[in-house]
Amino acid sequence: MSELRPGLVVMKFGGTSVENARAMLRTADIVLGRLDRGLEAVVVVSAMAKVTDLLLTAASAAGRGDVKGALAISSRLRIRHVDTATELAAGGSVGGLHAVLHAEFDGLDDLLRGISAVGELTARTNDLVVSFGERASSRMVTEAFRGRGIAAKHVDARSCIVTDDGFGKAVPIEAAIAARLLEHVAPLIAERRVPVMGGFIGSTATGVTTTLGRGGSDFTAALVGGGLHAAAIEIWTDVNGIMTTDPRICPDALRVKTISFEEAAELAYFGAKVLHPATILPAVQKSIPVWVLNSRDATNEGTKITAVAPPCASPFKSIAAKKRLTIIDVVASRMLMTHGYLKAVFDVFDRYRCAIDMVSTSEVSISLTVDSNEKLPEICAELSKLADVKYEGRKALICLVGEDIRGHSGIAGQVFSAVSHVNVRMISQGASEINMSFMIDEEEVEEAVRSLHSRFFENPDETVFDVAGRRERLNAD
Ligand code: ASP
Ligand code: MG
Repeated sequence: MSELRPGLVVMKFGGTSVENARAMLRTADIVLGRLDRGLEAVVVVSAMAKVTDLLLTAASAAGRGDVKGALAISSRLRIRHVDTATELAAGGSVGGLHAVLHAEFDGLDDLLRGISAVGELTARTNDLVVSFGERASSRMVTEAFRGRGIAAKHVDARSCIVTDDGFGKAVPIEAAIAARLLEHVAPLIAERRVPVMGGFIGSTATGVTTTLGRGGSDFTAALVGGGLHAAAIEIWTDVNGIMTTDPRICPDALRVKTISFEEAAELAYFGAKVLHPATILPAVQKSIPVWVLNSRDATNEGTKITAVAPPCASPFKSIAAKKRLTIIDVVASRMLMTHGYLKAVFDVFDRYRCAIDMVSTSEVSISLTVDSNEKLPEICAELSKLADVKYEGRKALICLVGEDIRGHSGIAGQVFSAVSHVNVRMISQGASEINMSFMIDEEEVEEAVRSLHSRFFENPDETVFDVAGRRERLNAD
C-alpha cells in the first residue's frame, strides 16, 4: 500500500448539507475551517435534498409518454435551483451560474421531451436524467464557495469516475479512476485549489453517463479518497454520527466515537440513516479513516469508522431495531433435509426478488424473516406447494452489534435476561460473531431497546462512547 497523503481530506456533503443557499454557505464555512487548519480539501456533493427522487419521477413520467408531467417537474426543479443561485448571488458574485443552470435545465427538458416522444425509458437514459441533480448542485456549491473566498474549481465527476455500463448501479473501475484523478484533480490540489465535484455520477470509458446507485455519493467520496490516498474522508450529514441506539427511543443514547467497518456494516442494514458501509469499502481497504459528521453541528466530533476498532470494555457498540418484518414458518416434516429442498424454498423468494433477513432451521422447519411486502400472499401460495406455510406480520428485529461480543462469555444470558418480559421468537448470532439478533412483536420494540440499552450502556467505556456529550445534552434538556 502506498502512503496516505497527509493533510488531504475528501469532504462529502449530502443532500441536506446543500439543500438551500443557507446550507451551501454553511458547507463553505465548514470547508474554510479545514483550510484554516492547513488542510487540503476535495469536495464531493450530492444533489440538493429530494432532487434525485423528483428526477426519477420525471424520468418515469416521460417514459410513460407524459411529457407535460415530466416538464412540470423539471420546471419546478429549475426554479428551485435558479432561486437558490439568486440567493447565493445576494451574498456576492456567482459568476455565470444562472446561465449554466439554465443551459443544464434546457438540456434536461430536451431529454425529457425525447424520452416522451419515444415513450420508452431505458436504464441508460434514466441515469442521464438523474445525473442532472449532482451536475447542478456541484456547480452551485462551487460558486457558493468562491463567494466565500475559497479557490474552488468545478470538476465534472464524469471525467474521473470511470465505471462499467451497469446503468443504475454501475461498478467503478478503480485503476482507471485513480489515473483520471491524477490527471484532473491532483494538479488542482497542487495549486492549492479546492476541486468540487458531484457524487453519484460517473461515465463509461467511452463517455456514457452512469450512476453508482442510490446514495452513491458516499461511494464517490471513498473512490476519490482511495484514488488520491487522502488521509481522511469526511461524510457530512445531518446526524451526530453513529449512536448507541435511536435517541428518539432512548434519550440517553450515546454517540459512538469509533466503530469498526464491520460493525458499521451490520448496523447499516437497519437503515441507520448514516451511510451504507459497502460504499466506503474502497477507503477502508486502504486504511483511510472515514468520519461521519454533522453539518448542522460542526463542532461535534462525529464517529470515526476504521478498519480495526480499538478494544472496548462494553460488549456492544450499538443496538438497532427494524420494524415491519414478517416471519414465515415453513414446516415440512419429511422433506426438509432432502437434497435440493432449501434451494427450492429460496428460489421462490428469488423469483419474487424478496430479500430474506434472517433464517433459522430445525429438523422439520425453517423460519425466515422478510420485509413486509405486498407479494407475501403469492410467495406463501407458492411455498405451500412445497410445505405447510404460516406467516405472521408486525414483527421487529432487534440487533446488538459489537466486536467485543467475542471476548465475553455469557452475553446471550445477559441479553435475554434484560428482555425476559418480552416474547422472543427467533434468535440468531451471525457468523461474523459481531451481532446478536432476535425477533419480537413490533409493539414491544421501544420497551426492549430501552431495557437493553440501560443494561449494556449503564457504565459506558469513555474511550469509545461520548459520555461527556451525553451529560451536557441531558443537562441542557
Ligand atoms: N443524490 C443521490 C441519491 O439521492 C446520491 C446521494 O445523495 O448520495 O441517491
Ligand atoms: Mg446520502
